Amino acid sequence: RSKNDGRGVYRFFEKVMDAEFQSRLALEMDLRCAINNNELELFYQPIISLDSNRLCGFEALIRWNHPTRGVVPPTEFIGIAEEIGLIDSIGAWVLKSACAEAATWPSDLKVAVNISPVQFNSKLIVLSVISALGETNLPPSRLELEITEAAMLDDNVLTLQTLHELKSLGCRISMDDFGTGYSSLNYVQKFPFDRIKIDQCFVRNMSEEDRSNAIVRAVTGLGASFGMKITAEGVETRAQLKQLQIEGCNEVQGYLFSPPRCARDTRRLIDRVRERARIPA
Ligand code: C2E
Ligand code: MG
Ligand code: MG
Ligand code: MG
Repeated sequence: RSKNDGRGVYRFFEKVMDAEFQSRLALEMDLRCAINNNELELFYQPIISLDSNRLCGFEALIRWNHPTRGVVPPTEFIGIAEEIGLIDSIGAWVLKSACAEAATWPSDLKVAVNISPVQFNSKLIVLSVISALGETNLPPSRLELEITEAAMLDDNVLTLQTLHELKSLGCRISMDDFGTGYSSLNYVQKFPFDRIKIDQCFVRNMSEEDRSNAIVRAVTGLGASFGMKITAEGVETRAQLKQLQIEGCNEVQGYLFSPPRCARDTRRLIDRVRERARIPA
């Protein structure tokens, strides 16, 4: 009896594992068709400059509108895209769509695009950026590329060369999720970033916790010494905003201002902001 019980448990797990495996396999198959089926969509989150107190651009954030699963967040499919060799084509689609959209905005607004580590380390990245800019006529100075620390892990000549090539096109480069990787300081020293994005985990505890304030202060100090601008992400409260202003942070984004919105709502927001700017104070 007891032997059979054991086997029953095994079969149960086998079934669960099998279901998970099947589901993952189905997701992979669906992802392969997502671009052609027009299921990928970019949302845009406003970025506010604290230096000018103005809207200065948007970060493009990808969404997958799956026909049966609903909206799949990037954290659930970018990793899969990297594993099954789809990240170059999805990444190229993101670059092209974001640049095309930004080209319709007023010319003082930039667009920030996330580049996955695998995409960054691929030979195609520079070509993807060149063709996105070329096809959309977006001035390179309006494109900012966000790269997470993980992308740099291959700390080699090629990484540095890619960064320099992207910068020589005229784009700016940001280090995303700063402080969450192994060797943030090493990267700051070695690589020519224009901007640091302080990860939201440090912003979250600001104003309530002196330690988080001290970390943000240290990062803004680092930025000042290395000629890099600082953006804080995940700003949700007025208290956090106030503290970030005190610490000399250059740009902020977060739910306090707006969640990411679809392209149409983003255009409406831009129109409203411009309308308000025309009314004399
Ligand atoms: P990220 O680039 O660090 O983006 C910030 C994430 O924080 C976004 O999640 C955004 O929606 C969310 N967020 C914004 N404001 C707040 C806030 O006030 N509070 C909180 N709690 N969260 C906030 P999302 O859109 O789910 O994206 C997650 C990650 O997926 C991104 O992190 C980025 O690493 C990656 N990702 C997004 N779009 C793309 C893409 O087009 N290509 C690639 N390679 N990766 C992408
Ligand atoms: Mg980002
Ligand atoms: Mg981030
Ligand atoms: Mg992140």
